[in-house]
Amino acid sequence: MRPATAVIDLAALRHNLGRVRALAPHARVFAVVKADGYGHGAARLLPALGDADALAVACIEEALALRAAGATQPVLLLEGVFEADELALCAEHGFEIAVRDEAGLRLLEAARLPRPLKTWLKLDTGMHRLGIDPRHTRAFVERLRACPAVADELGVMSHLASADDPAHAQTAQQLASFEAATTGLPVRRALSNSAGVLAWPAAHHDWVRPGIMLYGCSPMLGQTGPDAGLKPVMTFSTGLIQVKTVARGETIGYSGTFTCPADMRVGIAAVGYADGYPRHAPTGTPVLVNGRPSRTLGRVSMDMLCVDLTDHPEAQLGDRVTLWGEGLPAERIAEAAGTIAYEILCNLAGRVHKRVIGG
Ligand SMILES: *Cc1c(COP(=O)(O)O)cnc(C)c1O
Repeated sequence: MRPATAVIDLAALRHNLGRVRALAPHARVFAVVKADGYGHGAARLLPALGDADALAVACIEEALALRAAGATQPVLLLEGVFEADELALCAEHGFEIAVRDEAGLRLLEAARLPRPLKTWLKLDTGMHRLGIDPRHTRAFVERLRACPAVADELGVMSHLASADDPAHAQTAQQLASFEAATTGLPVRRALSNSAGVLAWPAAHHDWVRPGIMLYGCSPMLGQTGPDAGLKPVMTFSTGLIQVKTVARGETIGYSGTFTCPADMRVGIAAVGYADGYPRHAPTGTPVLVNGRPSRTLGRVSMDMLCVDLTDHPEAQLGDRVTLWGEGLPAERIAEAAGTIAYEILCNLAGRVHKRVIGG
């Protein structure tokens, strides 16, 4: 068996959900498990998410997969539906939907459903991605309330664009826009992603929608999950499949981008970009060898990666190389590779073995 393995720690996930509860004690929680649970495998996370009030995914395909895996909670489709015939399926399975524009409202007004749908009207409070102009909130709410396909319990939501930066003025503007549009309306309100949960108590409202923090990473600039009291759910590691000494002046890997400044002990780890390790991670990206710090050397290959064993004279064939997770936050790999922890986690490939612990 190839040693590349992601250990998924359900006890860490429960802990992180507990952190959400402690930070937003008056809000109910949508556990965001889109993109197959940010690469962790949404189905295998369900045993640790029983305490979440509801789940949230991007689309109906992901929601149906959760039902097939045994999820019993309400499931929200954050991007809503794309075609009219999805509405009947949503009613059948108890999915809640976001309504993001006039066309979406018209689909609901034209629908004849066996059961009304719980619906969340999405406002564009400044991110300028999905949602209606907040000035039209009242008119949309009135039409939704008059719509037989829409359940009485109506929600209004919006999304924060810059809440990862506590000094960014945009969040206060978005909050003010959301308040102005929704204050006094008989609706349940939801604004916060993980950054909102962590840093913006005024944005907690009735429901919060944490994603990345459930997996143990912090979205806040310059902060890692452990800094915020979170524990990594995914620890990705592999084994050394060859150990060798490379002579001074020789180069390592494709295009010879790293030249050995002296005779060097080098380990070849069985992991590459086809496993989801970022190809743009440069020489010097941190790894752990047997739990102690080391670094990558040269280009990342499809199936392999070279690591520096200069300070690891004891390292031998089969020893563990940790790519991210326990002891090495994914945020640090993301920073080295010019991306964010979200992408690092989501890109974990299907061929990597998964092992669940803490269940
Ligand atoms: C993905 C998503 C979230 C979760 O965001 P995190 O930054 O991962 O917490 C919340 N709300 C919406 C609408 C989303 O699309």
